[in-house]
Amino acid sequence: MRGRIRTVVSVINALAIDTEEWFHSELLGGQRPPIFQAAEATRQVLDLLDHCQTKGTFFIVGEVAERHPDLVREIFKKSHEIGCHGFSHHPLSKLNEDHFREELRRFHSVMEGILGKVPIKGFRAPCFSLDNRTKWALQVLVDFGYRYDASIFPVKLNPHYGVNGAPLRPYRISMKDVREEDPSSPLVEFPTPPLRLWRFRIPIAGGFYMRLFPSPFLHWGLKRINRDQPFLLYFHPWEGFSKTPRLKLSMVNRFISFYGIDSALKKMEFLLNRFKFSRVDRVLGLE
Ligand SMILES: [Zn+2]
Repeated sequence: MRGRIRTVVSVINALAIDTEEWFHSELLGGQRPPIFQAAEATRQVLDLLDHCQTKGTFFIVGEVAERHPDLVREIFKKSHEIGCHGFSHHPLSKLNEDHFREELRRFHSVMEGILGKVPIKGFRAPCFSLDNRTKWALQVLVDFGYRYDASIFPVKLNPHYGVNGAPLRPYRISMKDVREEDPSSPLVEFPTPPLRLWRFRIPIAGGFYMRLFPSPFLHWGLKRINRDQPFLLYFHPWEGFSKTPRLKLSMVNRFISFYGIDSALKKMEFLLNRFKFSRVDRVLGLE
C-alpha cells in the first residue's frame, strides 16, 4: 500500500494547452465574430504555470501563431514545448489528406518564420478527430517528422469523437488501426485516459470534464488513474478566461461551452499543486 502511494506521488503527467481562439470550438457552429483574445487568455495560463513552476506543451493553432508571433516566442522562451493543433483548427474529419498536408505546410512555414528551425514533435488533432476514419493523417504526420500524436480519446460518448477499444496508456500506434499497438510504428500515441470505475469509463482529464466535476472528485479520480499510469490533462486558455464571449447557443451546447469558466483557472491551480506535470515530449522520453 505504501509503495502504491509513493508511485502516485512520483508519476509525472503530461500537460497539454490547446492554444486556440474561443471561436475555434466546433460547438459554436462556425460563428466567428472577430474578437481575438487568444494572446490575453494564454498569457493568464503562462502566468499560472510560472507561479506553479510547471512546464507543459502548447499545441498551437497556426492562425493564432500567425496573429500573435510574440506569444509564440514567449511560450518558447519559457521552455514550454511547442506542438501543432492544426493551422485552421478544422477537424481531420472535415479535411482530406491533401488538405491536411497543406495545413501542416502552412503551420510549419509560420512557425519557422517566428522561431526558425525548431523541431515540432507533437500533434494534437482539433476536437479529438483522429480515429479509424481519419487514420490517413498518421502517415502525413510521419512525413512531416512528427514523433508523437496526442489526439485519441479512448471513450465514445458522442458521434463526433472517441475511439472505443483504444489503449489508455501511451503506445506505438498502428497506421492500419488506431486501436492497435505496433512496436515498429514511428509514432507514439498519448491518449487522454478516462477514469475507470466498474464498467464505466469517465473522462475527467481536462476541458469540459474538468470544468464540470468538483475539485475533490478530480483529485480522487486523477490519483486513481496515477496508480497505473500517467494521464494527459488538457486545457484551453479560453476555458479559464472571464471575457470569453457567451454566444447564444442551444442549452446543451451553452452548458458544455461555458459552464465553469469563471472557476477553471483556480481548478487548474488546484491540480497543478497536487500532481506533477511536464511537457508531453518529456513524459514520453522524446525530448
Ligand atoms: Zn482545439
